[in-house]
Amino acid sequence: MRIVILSRNGQLYSTRSILNAARRRNHFVRVVDHMLCDLVIDNDENKVIYEGTAISGYDAVIPRIGFTVTPYGAAVVRQFESMGVFTTLRAEALIRSRDKLSCLQLLSSKGIPVPKSLISNDQYHMLQMANQLGEFPIVMKLLSGTHGLGVVKANDYNDLETISDAFYALRQQVLIQEFISESAGQDVRALVVDGKVVAAMLRQAQPGEFRSNLHRGGSSQEIKLSKEEHDIALKAANILGLKVAGVDMLRSDRGPLIIEVNASPGLEGIETTTGVDISKRIIEFVERKSARIKNGKRRNNH
Ligand code: ADP
Repeated sequence: MRIVILSRNGQLYSTRSILNAARRRNHFVRVVDHMLCDLVIDNDENKVIYEGTAISGYDAVIPRIGFTVTPYGAAVVRQFESMGVFTTLRAEALIRSRDKLSCLQLLSSKGIPVPKSLISNDQYHMLQMANQLGEFPIVMKLLSGTHGLGVVKANDYNDLETISDAFYALRQQVLIQEFISESAGQDVRALVVDGKVVAAMLRQAQPGEFRSNLHRGGSSQEIKLSKEEHDIALKAANILGLKVAGVDMLRSDRGPLIIEVNASPGLEGIETTTGVDISKRIIEFVERKSARIKNGKRRNNH
């Protein structure tokens, strides 16, 4: 097969890992920087131009689109879709999953357990309503944040007021959320590929920290998910239309609560922690799809 990996940097662990997995299975692979792609929208023939030449003759695209460039990255993916190229991540699903608020709304409306959360356009309303989340501490999250940046804990009303002064003054949308104290600085990441949980790890925040992101110094270990965790991970990925997803959840007294679903999950932490070759699973998924497309069953359709 001929595969394009959309990535800003061919040296990133995840990009290299997917590239090597594809090569080991004898595919031709090319890393293309989506931010350097030009798109020709033409009724006769849509094209993606890269380094001055139209990219053509590819069977599949594996997008690795960073948080800060979602809209343009999604436009490039959409262009490949319009050209009939299979993609492991649909543009629509990418955009939907990057909007943290609409994700939470959608998951909750479909019966997926999430921490109780509150958002208000008006700081005064938010301060008035914060008691609906129960006792302090409560968690404040910038909707534009990632890797745990923009996630802070307000230990009392005074913290909430002071921190929200800054967020509202900067016109940043902020969500406040009940603090799941019993998760004790841990969260669970399940890696889903094509309707299967292929790996799972428990991340533990470093002492004095409640955010367990590996980027914030957290440590990790492989775990086996409970049936409930396994099932909601698959359900959440499915609701968001993601075939490859990193599903994050907190272990609470009332069962697992989903906090985030990541459309371009980093592979380094989970591959090194669990020893599972996730990139190989992604390539196998592409191979299955490609075989189906060749057999004429469905074209570029999950
Ligand atoms: P980001 O997308 O920036 O990683 P998250 O919402 O995943 O933000 O939060 C970062 C980390 O903070 C999580 O991995 C988890 O350890 C912790 N955390 C997030 N929400 C809560 C919560 N409601 N209660 C307790 N800990 C939380």
